[in-house]
Amino acid sequence: MLWPDTGRAAGKESHLMIPDCQTPDFMSFEELLTDEERQVRQTVARFVDERVLPIIAECFEAGRFPIELVPEMAALGLFGPTFQDYGCAGLSNVAYGLIMQELERGDSGLRSFASVQSGLVMYPIDRYGSDEQKQRWLPALAQARAIGCFGLTEPDGGSDPGTMKTHARRVGGDWLINGAKMWITNGTLADLAVVWARTPDGVRGFLVEKGTPGYTARDIAHKFSLRASVTSELFFDDCRVPERNRLPLADSLKAALSCLTQARYGIAWGAIGAAQACYREALQFAHQRILFGQPLVNKQTIQVRLAEMARRIAAAQLLAWRLGQLKDSDRLHHTQVSLVKWNNVRMALDVARDARDLLGAGGITLECCSIRHAMNLESVITYEGTETIHQLIVGRQITGQDAF
Ligand SMILES: Cc1cc2nc3c(=O)[nH]c(=O)nc-3n(C[C@H](O)[C@H](O)[C@H](O)COP(=O)(O)OP(=O)(O)OC[C@H]3O[C@@H](n4cnc5c(N)ncnc54)[C@H](O)[C@@H]3O)c2cc1C
Repeated sequence: MLWPDTGRAAGKESHLMIPDCQTPDFMSFEELLTDEERQVRQTVARFVDERVLPIIAECFEAGRFPIELVPEMAALGLFGPTFQDYGCAGLSNVAYGLIMQELERGDSGLRSFASVQSGLVMYPIDRYGSDEQKQRWLPALAQARAIGCFGLTEPDGGSDPGTMKTHARRVGGDWLINGAKMWITNGTLADLAVVWARTPDGVRGFLVEKGTPGYTARDIAHKFSLRASVTSELFFDDCRVPERNRLPLADSLKAALSCLTQARYGIAWGAIGAAQACYREALQFAHQRILFGQPLVNKQTIQVRLAEMARRIAAAQLLAWRLGQLKDSDRLHHTQVSLVKWNNVRMALDVARDARDLLGAGGITLECCSIRHAMNLESVITYEGTETIHQLIVGRQITGQDAF
């Protein structure tokens, strides 16, 4: 074994572990965090080290989401942690970001699960739902007694949700939903789907419960990326939902897009964790690999590559932290989130690919985490707005021209 995740997780591989192979804190990032934020990060880091890393390579290889960890995540308060009510912790958005970072240091699949549950299911219910919907679902989602999914993307194209074909029409006091959604994280796991559909009055959001006649979900197989995550198709065939299951305050596509801003914020942080894991693995390997009579760390180009990774991680941390500050003070603009999601995921993907190369042949196996992260990040750079879409959002902001 090159880098046994199990040993590393438990801190047992002293013969392999170089103690100072943690991510360097060039910019004194630690000073920016409150005691509570540091404590939250440490708690989640411990959970990831002890409970995720020992099993995640195996899960990835088997194409299995580690569902057994979900109750533990709920017990740690990782779902809806910024909410003030419903049994949630009321943490800062920086603390939320650090949770995402640590989860994604474990695996993007785990962070995706938490992003969907918090940002794409709890958030729309809290922001656009009725009191009855909030009381029924938010405590259950926070405690993971219910799992949610978010259905926006369709088979004919995710980048342009304004052209969605899924539609809902009023029949008496109910709605009949017809259509299909694709690439839906947690789809077959979900007790509750937040589904966006076109109506004669514009796009609306509906809460569709598992078991509703006419609603089915099927997993998408043969993924090379996010293998430790469930990705599904949802089908609606005359699926009848009562009016009380419509999100009453969601009155246009903008409501759905506002949920994406929440999830993209978490991704901007999460990507840092994936990059940190790859950087650490590459640095550790470079210390131990002896080539041409010297450890790889003595080579100039290796140092340049490691320095480049550290530089980009440090910059990404500051960007994410600044987003958190803006979000906490309610001044965050979705364009800022686009810029940082684009920057940080691109950074993480580049770091993961370079770390994979630096590890040589061993880097192609799941004994190294870099290839798993690199493959996961191929999804992360696509979902919640592809890199191009975020570039076009930023481009529109600076030119005033819509080039979509
Ligand atoms: C693992 C995974 C999980 C996901 N989970 C969810 C989920 O939970 N819920 C959900 O609703 N969706 C989810 N998605 C869907 C994801 O958000 C979409 O895949 C994404 O928005 C892109 O849509 P698409 O795949 O249809 O690509 P398309 O929209 O067809 O885009 C294809 C290509 O065209 C480019 N492109 C698009 N528009 C333009 C333009 N104007 N100019 C130039 N280039 C352009 C894109 O950048 C891309 O490279 C998930 C996807 C993956 C891979």
